[in-house]
Amino acid sequence: MLPVRDIAQPLCTDASPDSQKPGRDSVQLAHVICHELAHAKGLRHTEMRNVRYGWADGWKEYYGWAPKYAIAVNPEPATPTIEDRRAQPEA
Ligand SMILES: [Zn+2]
Repeated sequence: MLPVRDIAQPLCTDASPDSQKPGRDSVQLAHVICHELAHAKGLRHTEMRNVRYGWADGWKEYYGWAPKYAIAVNPEPATPTIEDRRAQPEA
């Protein structure tokens, strides 16, 4: 599995010019995922000249729901110390 920052780079050669800029966001990631899934369904770029799969004007607005889903790395779970374990009631 690729790290999120690598997934954000479109896998095809018809990438958005914005994809080369740092600071990728949820909107771009959602769009790239839909674009690549469209390829998996068999669509070609000639069939993707729209806001859903392509970079037609308005694609950012089409994915306006995506900022509700933040892209972040989950923090490592805290390893309980011996004292923490002793303080927990036995199950
Ligand atoms: Zn493509």
